[in-house]
Amino acid sequence: MLSTMQDVPLTVSRILRHGTTVHGRSRITTWTGNAEPQRRTFAEIGERTAQLAHALRDGLGIARDDRVATLMWNNAEHVEAYFAIPAMGSVLHTLNLRLPAEQLVWIVGHAADRAILVDGSLLPLLAPLLPRLDTVEHVVVVGPGDTSVLDGCRPAVHEYEALLAGRPTAYDWPELDERTAAAMCYTSGTTGDPKGVVYSHRSVYLHSMQVNMGECMGLTDADTSLPVVPMFHVNAWGLPHAAFMTGVNLLMPDRFLQPAPLAEMIEAERPTHSAAVPTIWQGLLAELAERPRDISSLRHVTIGGSACPPSLMRTFEERYGVRVVHAWGMTETSPLGTVGHPPGGLSGEDAWPYRVSQGRFPASVEARLIGPDGSEMPWDGKSAGELEVRGPWIAGAYYGGAGAEPIRPEDRFSPDGWLRTGDVGTVTPDGYLTLTDRAKDVIKSGGEWISSVELENHLMGHPAVAEAAVVAVPDEKWGERPLATVVLKEGAGKVSYEELRDFLADKVARWQLPERWTVIPAVPKTSVGKFDKKVLRARYAEGELDVTRL
Ligand code: AMP
Repeated sequence: MLSTMQDVPLTVSRILRHGTTVHGRSRITTWTGNAEPQRRTFAEIGERTAQLAHALRDGLGIARDDRVATLMWNNAEHVEAYFAIPAMGSVLHTLNLRLPAEQLVWIVGHAADRAILVDGSLLPLLAPLLPRLDTVEHVVVVGPGDTSVLDGCRPAVHEYEALLAGRPTAYDWPELDERTAAAMCYTSGTTGDPKGVVYSHRSVYLHSMQVNMGECMGLTDADTSLPVVPMFHVNAWGLPHAAFMTGVNLLMPDRFLQPAPLAEMIEAERPTHSAAVPTIWQGLLAELAERPRDISSLRHVTIGGSACPPSLMRTFEERYGVRVVHAWGMTETSPLGTVGHPPGGLSGEDAWPYRVSQGRFPASVEARLIGPDGSEMPWDGKSAGELEVRGPWIAGAYYGGAGAEPIRPEDRFSPDGWLRTGDVGTVTPDGYLTLTDRAKDVIKSGGEWISSVELENHLMGHPAVAEAAVVAVPDEKWGERPLATVVLKEGAGKVSYEELRDFLADKVARWQLPERWTVIPAVPKTSVGKFDKKVLRARYAEGELDVTRL
């Protein structure tokens, strides 16, 4: 028997219409450096979004399903593109501006982007690639920048404001099938070619509702959120879409992502929430210690993208009264997978074990753990396995390219359709995930697993340690053993490897203690700011690290 309910498609245009009318007074403030910030209401954004859609369709001939790329920072214009492109039935493709040139060229070609919206400040990055971006017919330059670098380039060049000027401020958004493509994002691809994840209107809609739930970010129009996480990194964790559902004001940092301007904009614009990867918060802590600022407006921050060291969470809470909420997700999961609010009724020290975990699964993310022998592991908080997930905002395949079938690599998708995350961890009976490693980073020592993440978290709790990355290196006797690479805090003075090892001794089993140690100036990072252990392993293999053996 069918229900008697209306079958209304869950589309991005519905989020847009709601946000720009019911929450028309909410604002996007974009930081501009020294000058006065740029301020726009959601109502104004709505009119400009319509103008952009007209410009793309009538001015540039962009049609349904055509891919339109953005190479942009977090700013109001990027939000306009976020809504206009999917709402008109085309596909938004956010480009990660930190990827190597070769990968960007490959990705644009694979997605067959017809147009690119680019921030003027990023023209020096785009211009040298243009001769190789064969599918791109139009470049739209947003904001000030030296456009002379585009002289003589093949694609037609347009200026964003000029393209919008005089266009109608309303658009008859088409009624789309909720399962059609709204946006796409390529994974950072540490091995092989990057993989394209294509989000549907439905997945964006449902994911945004989850972001707004109290058990996730739980924001309202009384909040201002500062998404430091880039809009090219999994839709800024869903914040722009979620904001238009509930009227959350947005403070956009544009290209000012260094600790000093971040501290300055927090003090001046008083956001109540922020979201970023741990390295950003490490930097902010160091900045605040040196140049104190008033960050008392911040109620809570969402940290994810890589494991958040518990010491970082504690410092923010104890020193600044900011509640850090840990979350886990990936490009393939839109990204929301788990969020670390403790169970109701627990507070203080009782809540910490839950808060430092990666968090709890929401109703729409089903999870299972697959052990080394392929069998499903129990949720007992002890048995480790590879995490597999499924749900309405979890990828079921990768984009195969225009006209090609979607790709389902065996190592990423199980035969029964679950996403293999490549993350290894445990789950408690009440659904809290603790990641112990990436499947490829786990250290296999004498038939047992050592968690590199656990060692790193403990090391980063040492007062002299700024950052620590632990990688597996070959060992004749044990197969693999941990190598601890440590970045010392400036002015920390001398600290011996013995002291660091002793610091770990009462925190992990004896056989897990690293015997190989080295101090490095900085941990190499991937394009989205995560520890790049591949580089460390390669440096070790090449004999480039000065390793001490205890
Ligand atoms: P990406 O698709 O680039 O966002 O990378 C996703 C991966 O980042 C996940 O599969 C995890 O390995 C890692 N990751 C994300 N959030 C966390 C977290 N809170 N703790 C540990 N690892 C994380």
